[in-house]
Amino acid sequence: MRQLIAGNWKMNGLGAALAELEALARALAARPAACDVLICPPATLIARAAAAASGSAVAIGGQDCRAEASGAFTGDVSAEMLRDAGATAVIVGHSERRQYHAETDAIVAAKARAAWRAGLTAIVCIGESEAERDAGDAYDVCSRQLAGSVPAGATPANTAIAYEPIWAIGTGKTASVGEIGQIHAHIKASLAAPLRILYGGSVKPTNAKEILGLADVGGALVGGASLKADDFLTIVAASRDGS
Ligand code: PEP
Repeated sequence: MRQLIAGNWKMNGLGAALAELEALARALAARPAACDVLICPPATLIARAAAAASGSAVAIGGQDCRAEASGAFTGDVSAEMLRDAGATAVIVGHSERRQYHAETDAIVAAKARAAWRAGLTAIVCIGESEAERDAGDAYDVCSRQLAGSVPAGATPANTAIAYEPIWAIGTGKTASVGEIGQIHAHIKASLAAPLRILYGGSVKPTNAKEILGLADVGGALVGGASLKADDFLTIVAASRDGS
C-alpha cells in the first residue's frame, strides 16, 4: 500500500497560502510522488484549495466534521459539506479537538461514520499524553482509543489511523524510531483490517526519512512542516515506494 503523507494546516492560512498548495501541485507534476498526498486546510479554504489542486496529485481534506449531515449546529461543518466543497478525506479525533472540544471516543467514531456516509476517507487520530506515557499507559490508551474511535466496517479504502503522541505535537520532540516501531506494531496487531497507520508529531524534513522507513509506518500526519511547500515536499520525497 502506498504511504499517505497528509498535511494539517490547523487554523493557519488565508487565501495567500494557496500559493504554497499551487507550488506543491506543480512540483509533484514535475516529479511524481511515490505516496498519496493530502492537504487539510482550514474549512474556509477547502473549496478554493480543491479548485487549485484539481487535476493534480494533491487531494484535499477537512480537519474535522460534525456527525450530523445538516441541522441547527451553528458554526459546525458536516462531512457532506466537506465533500461538496471538494474534500475527499477528513481528520477526526485530532488531540486538539479531543482537548479543546471535549470530544470523546464515541463522538470521534460517529464522525468517522459520518465521513464514510459522505464518501470521505476518515483519518482517525489517537495518541497518549505525556502523563499517560510516563505512567506506562501509552499502549492501553491507544488500544482504548482504537476500540472506541474506529467503527466496525473500517477498511483501508475508507479509514487511516494517525498515531500522534500528544507530547510530540508541535513541540519539536518526536518519539524515537524504536518507540514508533513498537507502538505501530501494537496498533497494527489491534486492528481488524490492514489500515494505514500514519505517525504524527513534529515530523520534519530532517527526521522524515527514518520515520517513514519503518515497516509499520503507513505515512505521516504533518502539522507545522506542511505549511511550506518546500518542507512538505522534502517529507513527501522521503516516503517509501509502496508499489
Ligand atoms: C498535527 O497537527 O497533527 C501535528 C502532528 O503537528 P506537528 O507536525 O506540528 O507536530
